[in-house]
Amino acid sequence: MYEKEREELIERLTRWGYLSKRDVINAFKKVPRHEFVPQNLRRYSYADQPLPIGHGQTISAPSMIAIMLESLDLKPAQKVLEIGTGSGYNAALIAELIGRDGQIFTIERVAELAEFGRANLKKSGYGGVKVITGDGTCGYTREAPWDRILITACAPEIPQPLISQLKVGGKLGAPVGRHYMAQTWIVAEKLGEKKINVQERGGCSFVPLVGKYGWKEE
Ligand code: SAM
Repeated sequence: MYEKEREELIERLTRWGYLSKRDVINAFKKVPRHEFVPQNLRRYSYADQPLPIGHGQTISAPSMIAIMLESLDLKPAQKVLEIGTGSGYNAALIAELIGRDGQIFTIERVAELAEFGRANLKKSGYGGVKVITGDGTCGYTREAPWDRILITACAPEIPQPLISQLKVGGKLGAPVGRHYMAQTWIVAEKLGEKKINVQERGGCSFVPLVGKYGWKEE
C-alpha cells in the first residue's frame, strides 16, 4: 500500500538534496510512514509536510527527518536514545539504520502518545524499539552511555544530562532555539569528557521540548 507514493517522495527528497546517503534512503524505502499517521490523515502520509498526531504534537516533515538522520552518521550496532517518540516513525527509521545489533530507546512525555508510538512500532514490525514514558530531558541513565542522541523537540539549550550521558566520540542532534521560530538544527560531537564541538546545520521548526532541562510547562 502507498508504495508508489513512497517511491515518489524519496525521489523528490533526493532531487531536492535532502536525501543522499544510501542507508538513509533504504530506511525511508523500508518504513511505511502511513502506518504512523492517524487514520484520517493517511492520504497525506507521503506529502513533505508535518502532520498532527494529537495533544498539540506532530510527526515531523520527511525532509526534516532526512536532515536529522543524514547529519548523525547512524551506523549498525550503535546504541541510540531518541527524545520525543511521537508517532514512532523516526524511531523505526533509526531501528533500520542501526540494524539487529543496535539498540534504540525512545522517551515520550505524553503517556497517550507513548502508547500511540508503541502500538505503531509494534504493528509495523519494530516491536524491538523500547518506548519509555517520561521526561527525556533527564535522559535515561539506566542504559547510558549512548553512541547517538536525537532530540525531536526544540530545547532552549542542550540539556546537560544528555551531554553527560553521551559517549566520548558520540554525537547528539537537536533543534535549539526559541519556540517555533529562530531554531537551528545542531550537531554536537563529544570530543572529550569536557570538550564538545557544536555545528549549526540550518534552520528548522519544532514543537517545544518541555521538561526539567527544557521549557517549563505552560
Ligand atoms: N519523533 C516523532 C515522530 O517520528 O513522530 C516526532 C516528535 S514530535 C515533533 C516531538 C515530541 O516530543 C512530541 O511527541 C512531544 O510530546 C515530545 N516531547 C516534548 N518534550 C518532551 C520531553 N521532555 N521528553 C520526552 N518527549 C517530549
